[in-house]
Amino acid sequence: MSGQLSSAIATAADAGYERAQDISRFLHENPELGFHEEKAVAMLTEWLSDAGFTIETGIAGMPTAFTAIVGGESAGPTVAYLAEYDALAGLGHGCGHNLIAAGSCLAAISLHEAIGDSAGRIMVIGTPAEEGGGGKVMELEAGIFDGVDAALMFHGADRTIVSRPMLASMRYEVLFRGTAAHAAKNPDAGRSALSAAQLLFHAVDAMRTHLSSSARLNGIITSGGQAVNIIPERCEVVFQVREHTLDAARQLGLWFEKSCQAAAIMTQTTVSVTRPSPDYAHLVSNPVLAGRCVDYLNEAGLTVESAAPDEATASTDAGNVSLRIPTLHPFIQVAPRGTASHSTAMLEAVAQPAAQAAMLVGAKVLAQLGMDVLLDDAFRREMVDAFLT
Ligand SMILES: [Zn+2]
Repeated sequence: MSGQLSSAIATAADAGYERAQDISRFLHENPELGFHEEKAVAMLTEWLSDAGFTIETGIAGMPTAFTAIVGGESAGPTVAYLAEYDALAGLGHGCGHNLIAAGSCLAAISLHEAIGDSAGRIMVIGTPAEEGGGGKVMELEAGIFDGVDAALMFHGADRTIVSRPMLASMRYEVLFRGTAAHAAKNPDAGRSALSAAQLLFHAVDAMRTHLSSSARLNGIITSGGQAVNIIPERCEVVFQVREHTLDAARQLGLWFEKSCQAAAIMTQTTVSVTRPSPDYAHLVSNPVLAGRCVDYLNEAGLTVESAAPDEATASTDAGNVSLRIPTLHPFIQVAPRGTASHSTAMLEAVAQPAAQAAMLVGAKVLAQLGMDVLLDDAFRREMVDAFLT
């Protein structure tokens, strides 16, 4: 039964591969930043609509969020495929979300073609602004994930790893305000907001000595003064604070906030600290989904590696989803080994035929996992048990 369905999935995926490649290439050539992914959403929803899915756009208060749903009229479980499609500022699709978008839709379409409408509900959830805006978090809060039994997606990488730890992440915007004055004639009348920012960076470097190996504190100065002959009145800093769990990130965040206050006190400036986007939770891979995924990847001829015990990687808002429902976010090799994420090398790699071929494998594997979630009651129970323990 499942062997026949697996080959029906493969046939359907092969049939949809050309359109998936076209869309993946189009997204790569037309990168759009988070919350502005209009072209991507238009292309993806048109494809899903052609395949029989019912589309709703503008969900959860975000114009570029969508759901596409098929099947499940007579209840049954729900599997959701997550489609990310935002690009990086200045670097286009250097994170390969063009492959995620086309791959998740291809998985959903192939699964539907193979099993039809009666086994349960198949969803694609279009999730904007993964690179910082937290579209999935807002969709979770708006109830879009309610009733979803499993959430599936894959991410491209330079190797294939099914369960890789992803760090919880918090974004901070820090604004120091001082007093402007002529830098040569009246420096005594001024107070430098830039000096406060400099002290904050020193404080963060001093903190690092005492942090766990998974802690990450990265900052940039986005505005540090208007003219060299004026004591800087305002200085804006953006920081990202990451740790292995959300609780640990929030603890570290409290220390960071105190350092911001201290830098202001030392420089007789003022500071306001804001968190402009939702916190990203760490990612918990469902072990039952992960085990089956390894089997399917091996069957497809891929070598699956294990993450190093202390491996820290990036962050994703799929982490928030993974704390709420059974989730799998495997990494599939789409680029030569050693290719860094968020690099020009990755940007080039994810447009190559080899990456497209990996996307096809990923889509087939995710569709097979969706088949198991919808049709195999014992598997689904195991998955839920593993989630609850
Ligand atoms: Zn990414």
